[in-house]
Amino acid sequence: LEDDEMETSDIQIFYKEESECQNLSQNSCPSSEVSHIYTPVKPRNYQLELALPAKEGKNTIICAPTGCGKTFVSLLICEHHLKKFPQGQKGKVVFFAVQLPVYEQQKSVFSNYFERLGYKVAGVSGATSENVSVKQIVENNDIIILTPQILVNSLKNGTIPSLSVFTLMIFDECHNTGKHHPYNMIMFNYLDQKLGGSSDPLPQVIGLTASVGIGDAKSTAEAVEYICRLCASLDTSVIATVKDNLEELEEIVYKPQKFFRKVESRTTDRFKCIISQLMRETESLAKSIFDEIEGISQIRNREFGTQKYEQWIVTVQKACTVFQLPDKDEESRICKALFLYTSHLRKYNDALIINEHARMKDALDYLKDFFTNVRAAGFDEIEQDLTRRFEEKLQKLESVSMDPSNENPKLKDLCFILQEEYHLNPESRTILFVKTRALVDALKKWIEENSELSFLKPGILTGRGKTNQNTGMTLPAQKCALDAFRTNGDKKILIATSVADEGIDIAECNLVILYEYVGNVIKMIQTRGRGRARGSKCFLLTSNAVVIEKEKINIYKEKMMNDSISMLQTWNEAVFKEKVLQIQIQEKVIRDSQGKVEPVPDKENKKLLCRKCKAFACYTVDIRVVEECHYTVVGDAFRKCFVSKLHPKPKSFGYFEKRAKIFCARPNCSHDWGIHVKYKIFEIPVIKIESFVVEDIATGAQKLYAKWKDFHFEKIPFDAKEMPK
Ligand SMILES: [Zn+2]
Repeated sequence: LEDDEMETSDIQIFYKEESECQNLSQNSCPSSEVSHIYTPVKPRNYQLELALPAKEGKNTIICAPTGCGKTFVSLLICEHHLKKFPQGQKGKVVFFAVQLPVYEQQKSVFSNYFERLGYKVAGVSGATSENVSVKQIVENNDIIILTPQILVNSLKNGTIPSLSVFTLMIFDECHNTGKHHPYNMIMFNYLDQKLGGSSDPLPQVIGLTASVGIGDAKSTAEAVEYICRLCASLDTSVIATVKDNLEELEEIVYKPQKFFRKVESRTTDRFKCIISQLMRETESLAKSIFDEIEGISQIRNREFGTQKYEQWIVTVQKACTVFQLPDKDEESRICKALFLYTSHLRKYNDALIINEHARMKDALDYLKDFFTNVRAAGFDEIEQDLTRRFEEKLQKLESVSMDPSNENPKLKDLCFILQEEYHLNPESRTILFVKTRALVDALKKWIEENSELSFLKPGILTGRGKTNQNTGMTLPAQKCALDAFRTNGDKKILIATSVADEGIDIAECNLVILYEYVGNVIKMIQTRGRGRARGSKCFLLTSNAVVIEKEKINIYKEKMMNDSISMLQTWNEAVFKEKVLQIQIQEKVIRDSQGKVEPVPDKENKKLLCRKCKAFACYTVDIRVVEECHYTVVGDAFRKCFVSKLHPKPKSFGYFEKRAKIFCARPNCSHDWGIHVKYKIFEIPVIKIESFVVEDIATGAQKLYAKWKDFHFEKIPFDAKEMPK
């Protein structure tokens, strides 16, 4: 159920997250956020303090709380940097933003601020990169705002030969510089140039963050080491924090009071009993057709209604799709049956999680929706049987969920907190964070249907990724939700998933409620940054003592981080630089020894089979790659293998026009295979590899891939000449 675990699906084939911002410029919902932050104002003393080492030309990480105006600090640094060049020389600044809303925001901030000073500002993001020459944009402008992947690509393909074209690089949310993040890819290039003895000048490097993080450090010594490694990645010589103007800072950024509330779960849960019984039955049905099911996964001691069960079922489902028998009809029958049993088990598990944190009614509605959809699709014997078993219990489930004595005590506590806070301050503005998207919907309904709370008029905000059941919000939809919360005083509460807590600027709110929600230390600091107004409070509400324990550990980690930074700031700068250099040399040796081995494509022709019913779909030799990331199949044979249905949400993107969804043509299967699009003048199917099983023709071995990029076969580019006239 976690957002990050359930990416992929057809939207990703087409609308890479970065591309969505195309819609943004034509955003029907006017955004109000730009103007209020950026009329040039007098810098505060602590902002001048933070900017100082960078103005002296030092590579700096600026670490200061969310909401203190780090963007303004970067404007000061940038302005000073561009003005310091003598006549005849020019500086060039690049500012990186990881997330699209931040990219958009920074682009307009920098334009507003610098264009009046006569500097040229431009930006390139994933959405605009295809239609512009990055090289020319970099050549013709003084300040360039980029999503980092653009620069990684341009360095790789040689459009930008070296980082020496820039004189200053600014990394927003620079704590991301690690592992294979594009920030680190850029810095690898920088460090290769630095350590490789090139005489070309390197740009000054500035990082901005609210929290450098400490990884898994268990002691201050380990935390110091972790921070040194981050500094090495960014070639940092100074960490700037506010020291001399702390009082002034604390007036601007108020830390909300934090409260922990341990609540009890239901003592008896009849809903859980009934669903667990259904799950046991479904599990034994699955076992009756395939008794080795227990041996598939390493996961032991699974319990219904947990994330662990979710992981178990996903593993089993994957393994079942590559299960093979000599009799292919028999194989198809068994694979399909297992697919259906595991899908049902997964839904039941979801429902138990909803039941745990919200109302029984919400969990039951979720299941009823699912069974309505099952009825509307293939509805074969197995599905009929499973539906009958559910319907036999339906009456009982209905009456259990209507029984007031089964109310969720956690919700009572949440209701109590909300009522009390709104009694104290009727103008309160609340953000309620929850773990999953299904819970966002459930809690919204609960508030709306609760006569004591319905005055809150809840809004919702979820991520742009797509999960297994719900399509995410688009960027314009996110902006609309945020604008409504900002400007409409009636909407007093915003229910959000974790994705909302980084990068998107949420208007001042004075009440943050974390509902069964826990994150790492970076997340915590940023969440806290949302409660800016004075007198703001943050509640952590959970039935799990471990969650409270974790949050206390996070607070301890934050202290360890602050202590470590203070310690590092007392080091002699030359000693620190030497330490950083040693780490950089070590890391480069490791990097170079690993090499960059491109995977060799396997030229052997392979079969693609429907992942659900195992019917033959096509051969890999018939697959063509369109615009480097979309996969179509040529030839008439394939057209008979699928059926298409008009897409509920047709969309255009670039040369593509999404028109229909395509499904396995076998009766009673109808597995989702991808979409049908108009590409230039051609009508072509676009398939997603996660819908298929790949079978080696010679050996019969089967493999699963979630993403095309992991499947290394000979990829032939799409050629219009091949297409029938
Ligand atoms: Zn099929």
